[in-house]
Amino acid sequence: MKYVGAHVSASGGVSNAPRNAGEIGAKAFALFTKNQRQWRAHALAPEEIERFGVTCRELGFSAEKILPHDSYLINLGQPQQAPLEKSRAAFIDEMQRCQQLGLQMLNFHPGAHLQQISEAECLTRIAASINLALENSDGVTAVIENTAGQGRMVGYCFEHLAEIIRQVKDQSRVGVCLDTCHLFAAGYELREAEGYEKTIQSFDAIVGLGFLRGMHLNDAMKPLGSRVDRHAPLGDGFLGVEAFRLIMQDRRLEDIPLILETPQPQRWPEEIDLLYRLADEKK
Ligand SMILES: [Zn+2]
Ligand SMILES: [Zn+2]
Repeated sequence: MKYVGAHVSASGGVSNAPRNAGEIGAKAFALFTKNQRQWRAHALAPEEIERFGVTCRELGFSAEKILPHDSYLINLGQPQQAPLEKSRAAFIDEMQRCQQLGLQMLNFHPGAHLQQISEAECLTRIAASINLALENSDGVTAVIENTAGQGRMVGYCFEHLAEIIRQVKDQSRVGVCLDTCHLFAAGYELREAEGYEKTIQSFDAIVGLGFLRGMHLNDAMKPLGSRVDRHAPLGDGFLGVEAFRLIMQDRRLEDIPLILETPQPQRWPEEIDLLYRLADEKK
């Protein structure tokens, strides 16, 4: 079964996120457990943790369908020691917040080398950051997102993801989230059956589908291989509806959260509806 949702607002408190997801007809959702543009956050209040759990249970969202995303400020591959430590501390805090909320995953962008260290060195730093976070948390899987390769980010090819995973000690607690816009921007074809199949098989061969814990479903504002991370509403970008039909009909992608991060939240109910219709369509 497919579980489609969106990255919904948690403003006013994390327990508003499942409520917001329920209202748009989602069966999965993503959220920030703190303000994503600030380093510091108040600890989660016990009543808010309780309310979050109750609301999720009421609306039928189990932990494996919820894919929290970390702050945009964190760079686990930071070349400089002081900011690296700041990022690692913030990431551990986010892992612990997820744990407190009874969640099982934390999705993050791997990191950036800032042209000060090699890509290989950056990947090693990221893996070391993950190892540290796993040692300082319990029951939460670190879910690495593939990137568009914009700026100085690593993680734009499957080899990068595989190399990070290879260096993680507890491989039962590391996973991958594939973002369709980032895949396409990084040069991976998804628009027709043959290219799509090649991309998925290559992911399976290099990383392993067993590591796939979620996907972000976004159309792409820029063409194949642009390396520009700009999301478009489904069908409005260079990917087009066919890519999403292929995903929704792919039996290998069942039972994981499929999350919209498209730019017009008012269209999410319509986009979710479209995706479920594509899943039901006969080929
Ligand atoms: Zn994404
Ligand atoms: Zn993106």
